[in-house]
Amino acid sequence: MVVNAQHEAQADSAMVANIYNEVLANAECYENLRYLCKNIGQRLAGSENAGKAIEWGKTTLSNYKPDDVFLMPVDVPHWSRGSNEYGNYYLTTMQTDNKVRTKPALTALGGSVGCEGEIVAEVVEVKSFDELKALGENKVKGKIVFFNKAMDPLLINTGAAYGGAYPIRGDGPSEAAKLGAVACLIRSLTLADDNYPHTGGTHYQDSIPKIPAAALSSVAARQLSADLKTDPHLAFTLHLSCVDYGRTMQANVVAEIKGTKFPDEYITIGGHLDSWDIGEGAHDDGTGIVQSIEVLRTMIALGYKPKHSIRVVLFINEEFGNDGGETYARVCKENGLVHVAAIESDGGGFSPKGFNCELNDAQFALFKSWSTVLEPYGLSVFRRGGSGVDIRPLKDDRVALFGLNVDGQRYFDYHHSNNDVFENVNKRELELGAAAMASLVYMIDQTGLPANP
Ligand SMILES: [Zn+2]
Repeated sequence: MVVNAQHEAQADSAMVANIYNEVLANAECYENLRYLCKNIGQRLAGSENAGKAIEWGKTTLSNYKPDDVFLMPVDVPHWSRGSNEYGNYYLTTMQTDNKVRTKPALTALGGSVGCEGEIVAEVVEVKSFDELKALGENKVKGKIVFFNKAMDPLLINTGAAYGGAYPIRGDGPSEAAKLGAVACLIRSLTLADDNYPHTGGTHYQDSIPKIPAAALSSVAARQLSADLKTDPHLAFTLHLSCVDYGRTMQANVVAEIKGTKFPDEYITIGGHLDSWDIGEGAHDDGTGIVQSIEVLRTMIALGYKPKHSIRVVLFINEEFGNDGGETYARVCKENGLVHVAAIESDGGGFSPKGFNCELNDAQFALFKSWSTVLEPYGLSVFRRGGSGVDIRPLKDDRVALFGLNVDGQRYFDYHHSNNDVFENVNKRELELGAAAMASLVYMIDQTGLPANP
């Protein structure tokens, strides 16, 4: 038994070495990312560009000649920020007639309503919902509420810091509107000290008036806060040109390699093809898309015949409702597909450190035993935690869910901003992530990660 286990470990190590050699010598993920970012660019779900990205994904996957490539229709929202958004203000305390206007860098939150003309109002600054409620309707009605809450810089896990500030972006506009606010500004969810505003989805409550909502860059937020101390009555002018076009049909792109031994059991690998509509969606989540495609390319290039069926899924609309992930899980269930595992890369194309996983105890013990094979490649994080938004709807008692764990210290510098561009992705870090994912797929395929070993 010991000899057998040793033999297997050696065979696994040899195969993982082959995977890394193939990716680091011949990867096409960086060039695929260049095309996606530079020739298609931003691709908000529902937009024409998202349609182009779906066609590109189908063609790119087909070129690697898997057994099948198909589109799975998905109903998605179609919203646009328009092309005319701005804010400015002047200090009423200035004595001259020639009052200088400050023009803070801002951008509408995803899903925001537009402004009819300009909103001109005083600003009340708060750091939390509790502070807002303490002010009460008297001090909020008719004003612009400015949530000046930063992501917590003391948290080492930047995803946790994002999670801590996220409710302000999602719920802030409706909470402000409940007290009669006319618009909502938030400090961007970022750890960077720069002038890029970061968008992201906001979610109105149906029974509350919908008010325009925008994010200020971290620099602009600091400046506004300082100016409000000088002049609490400064007059802020806001215009957003957002339009809601309702819903439209787009698609997940699915490629499949049929399993040789367990063709009815699936391992899905993916990321989300949609991005926000500023920047190029490079780290979020172009990198996850091209890494997933690279896994497929590598398996085929190595002539690897998986035991289980392998699917690469380019999900549509993670950013604004997770329609792609929800639809994929529903269609799989309707067709009786059994999932052994699903792996997502949606934390940026940075140096991989290991995997987050949602596993039962038996699966987790087996997963940790693979560390001897994976640690030589710097994969030492084998941690329970969030896997990925797109794959989470697959969750059941059987499926093992994994998210690529990367060095996320710079992720929120780029995330949802004009700074999320191809130039900010490192070729080698991107490729190492793809090799890590392919290695995990191989290990899962060999064992099946049985539910009850
Ligand atoms: Zn993402």
